[in-house]
Amino acid sequence: MTQRPFNFSAGPAALPEEVLSQVAAEMLDWHGSGMSVMEMSHRGPEFTAICATAERDLRELLQVPSNFHILFMQGGGLAENAIVPLNLSRGGEVDVVVTGSWSKKSAEEARRYADVGIAADGAPAKYSAIPSPASWQLRKNAAYVHICSNETIDGVEFHQLPDLKALGSDAPLVIDCSSHQLSRSIDWSKVGLAFGGAQKNIGPAGLTLVFVREDLLDRALAICPSAFEFKTVAAAQSMYNTPPTFSIYVAGLVFQWLKRFSYAGKTGVAAIEQRNIDKAALLYGALDASNLFENRVAADCRSRMNIPFYLRGEYNTPALNAAFLDGAKARQLLQLKGHKSVGGMRASIYNAMPLEGVQALVAYLKDFEAQHG
Ligand code: PMP
Repeated sequence: MTQRPFNFSAGPAALPEEVLSQVAAEMLDWHGSGMSVMEMSHRGPEFTAICATAERDLRELLQVPSNFHILFMQGGGLAENAIVPLNLSRGGEVDVVVTGSWSKKSAEEARRYADVGIAADGAPAKYSAIPSPASWQLRKNAAYVHICSNETIDGVEFHQLPDLKALGSDAPLVIDCSSHQLSRSIDWSKVGLAFGGAQKNIGPAGLTLVFVREDLLDRALAICPSAFEFKTVAAAQSMYNTPPTFSIYVAGLVFQWLKRFSYAGKTGVAAIEQRNIDKAALLYGALDASNLFENRVAADCRSRMNIPFYLRGEYNTPALNAAFLDGAKARQLLQLKGHKSVGGMRASIYNAMPLEGVQALVAYLKDFEAQHG
């Protein structure tokens, strides 16, 4: 088969080619059942097994403790911005650390249901750094503290989750990990709830993963829709309503791919994390060495997944940005345009992006600089 283009989309994003091929092969007849997974009852034995295997593999990959439920939901990250306060806020206080566009959106949505306090705001520094946890204004009665552990637009990532206890807070930590879930291990001892849309590292859009600690299941507001009540969804093993079956199936194949994945003498999440570290180091190294391009995020919180970059100073013209993107496309490097709110370029290098994809981008950066710098 010919080499597919390298796809740098921020999401929906590239999936492992092996998985796509398997999906194609199983499309008309899944394992001799005579049905596509899309055509199966979610309560039948075939899909029940697919879903249970997916959950078990995910639990194993991320070493999710037994006191956490894994929920397969719908609605995406933005729906969770409402679903989480409906389930956890009790209509009281919620603290949000704003480190970029997505946590800002979370704070705005939570205001409909709770008294939101901005514990810290990275806006004055244009979201180029994470305000130090020691400076966060955490309220004693907050029902939870929300962070976005990887800001997809601004390219800012928490490389260590905050230890709220050490900061004097007993509130559970909620993390929106949409754009880096499964790219690295998670320290569950610091987390009360984690959520993320699937369409970056996990599978097709339509599926949202929620990891929720058992003791947080009992506090939903009466107005919370039943289909979004964590307790109800957990009790029904994500089958209270029809779950996004095809997305769960593809996600399950991605989990199996990741269990098989090896790199640098490691396997599974440890292997993909190491490759993600290496890919990011290669790209940031090239940007930092360049006189034409720049990344503006502080070194200690640069995202391994989403790397925004810009033409420097006087080079940053609409014409040269367009020339860069056209040239990239001609080299089979797709979807490098930055988010419309910030402009410039962005390379999203999720789990499915091979090292060769980043090498090809770096080679292009150098050629473009030699021609235009
Ligand atoms: N949070 C983060 C960190 C995201 O990257 C996104 C989507 N890019 C969202 C929330 C919103 O997700 P959705 O479009 O699935 O609602």
